[in-house]
Amino acid sequence: MANVSDYSGFWVFAEQINGKIADVGRELLGKARELADSKGVEAAAVVVGDLTEDEVKELISYGADKVYLLSHPNLKLYSSLTYTRLLEDLVNKEKPEAFLFGAGPLGADLAPRVAARLNTGLSAHCVDLKLNEEGGLDQVVPGFGGSLMATIVCPNHRPQMATVMPGAMKMPEPKEREGEVVRVDVGEVPSPSPEIVEFKPKERSAVALDGADVVIAGGWGIGSEENWKLLEELAEVLGGAVGATRPAIDEGWAPEDVMIGQSGKTVHPKLYIGAGISGVMHHVVGIQDSEVIVAINKDPKAQIFEVCDFGIVGDATKVLPVLISKLKEKLGE
Ligand SMILES: Cc1cc2nc3c(=O)[nH]c(=O)nc-3n(C[C@H](O)[C@H](O)[C@H](O)COP(=O)(O)OP(=O)(O)OC[C@H]3O[C@@H](n4cnc5c(N)ncnc54)[C@H](O)[C@@H]3O)c2cc1C
Repeated sequence: MANVSDYSGFWVFAEQINGKIADVGRELLGKARELADSKGVEAAAVVVGDLTEDEVKELISYGADKVYLLSHPNLKLYSSLTYTRLLEDLVNKEKPEAFLFGAGPLGADLAPRVAARLNTGLSAHCVDLKLNEEGGLDQVVPGFGGSLMATIVCPNHRPQMATVMPGAMKMPEPKEREGEVVRVDVGEVPSPSPEIVEFKPKERSAVALDGADVVIAGGWGIGSEENWKLLEELAEVLGGAVGATRPAIDEGWAPEDVMIGQSGKTVHPKLYIGAGISGVMHHVVGIQDSEVIVAINKDPKAQIFEVCDFGIVGDATKVLPVLISKLKEKLGE
């Protein structure tokens, strides 16, 4: 059996959907590069799909010394069992000390399977990753209802594995770098069963939350589906996207994929306005990189007022209509 010291290098699973590498892989490579540089080891990306060397070599410019390419027509669409087997084999052969995955639906399915096969640990929904004094990976997740940040370590097993929400790590600037694409022999690959013919992204009408300059977020304090329309109206006036907390999604006022926070998205807008939101750490970790945070809450002691730049103490259902009409006046609508 291999020892912990036999493992070296920081790996990222760069997931692809319909042949396009998702941004979360590039974001994680930025972090893997930083960690690898601190230890003087390699950073690598792993891509599974039906892709050519040319289609994956851009990952070198995002920080990979090596891009392991596992390509076959039958790997074009995600298959839990086949992808798991291939990653298990590759890790056992190359022995990376850490392996990072995006915490989207694919990573959430794949990472625990790979971790279980490798008999190692997995920290889900990390918001930060750093090296500790022993050279191990500190995996930071909000814990105990979001009231503190818990650091998880995996001292006795390798690789150290973690999932990270898209947007939680900064996208690195691509640079001219040296690196190589290593084509991995995948052998016989069964066709996916049941066969998935195509992945279709959801149709979206409003501004997408990812990359939005203005985010209007609502929480349980908004009170009803009817009141929720005020957030949509404000977002429309400012050309922004609407986000939500977990309870607002549970109420059915907003779809699951606009949840912001530890188990949802991380946003980096120029302006974030949060209404009827208490400001628990689970949500705040997803907004703390916003340039300006404005909070509307009727409770002057709400935690959100500790992280905001501007706070309005008041009933959101009364404040929002005034804000909308003033902004319309200002913007000449
Ligand atoms: C493992 C784990 C992961 C989680 N991940 C996430 C996550 O990713 N994202 C997330 O959002 N949550 C997450 N949660 C849930 C999180 O802990 C909180 O429960 C949630 O963020 C609180 O949402 P809220 O602020 O909308 O509701 P509440 O905490 O109930 O706050 C409602 C606020 O609205 C105010 N209010 C009420 N009426 C009005 C009014 N008329 N006008 C103005 N203000 C009003 C109240 O004063 C209160 O501050 C997670 C929980 C766990 C355990």
